Amino acid sequence: MANEEIYANDPGVQERFWAKVNKEGPQHPYEPSKGNCWERPASVNDGYGHFKVNGRMLKSHRLSCALVGNPPPKGMLCRHTCDNRVCVNPEHISFGSPRENTNDMISRGRQARGERASKSKLTAEEVMSIMKDFRKYPQIAAEYGVGDEAIGRIKRGITWRHITHL
Ligand SMILES: [Zn+2]
Repeated sequence: MANEEIYANDPGVQERFWAKVNKEGPQHPYEPSKGNCWERPASVNDGYGHFKVNGRMLKSHRLSCALVGNPPPKGMLCRHTCDNRVCVNPEHISFGSPRENTNDMISRGRQARGERASKSKLTAEEVMSIMKDFRKYPQIAAEYGVGDEAIGRIKRGITWRHITHL
């Protein structure tokens, strides 16, 4: 049994965990039908949220899957399909072996660059998600395939004001 699974039936853990979850996070960047990120930015280390129970630090996104009855199998990695490390929405988390995880990251990086190459401008929808994205500019820029300055101009209301109403 994986560590996370032990706590799934503990009402105290359930309550303490979900109390700090914000279900109004940014929309899933690649598959909007998967809804919003559920963010739990508590005990963040290395970008990932953590939850302490019985002196153990568990990764919040792994625990979250267990708490909704879908615990990660032992030895499996939990990957964020939304690339938002503090997200605990089980719909945004997929299980895979360490090898699958690496292959997937490589192919998605290629795909993102390809889409951008054929499309010079951001869409209004992308601009809105950029406004709701509070990560550092270079991180956001990398995700949308634009320069850091482009993100700064949007955030300061220099470009896209008709969309952002800044
Ligand atoms: Zn998410």
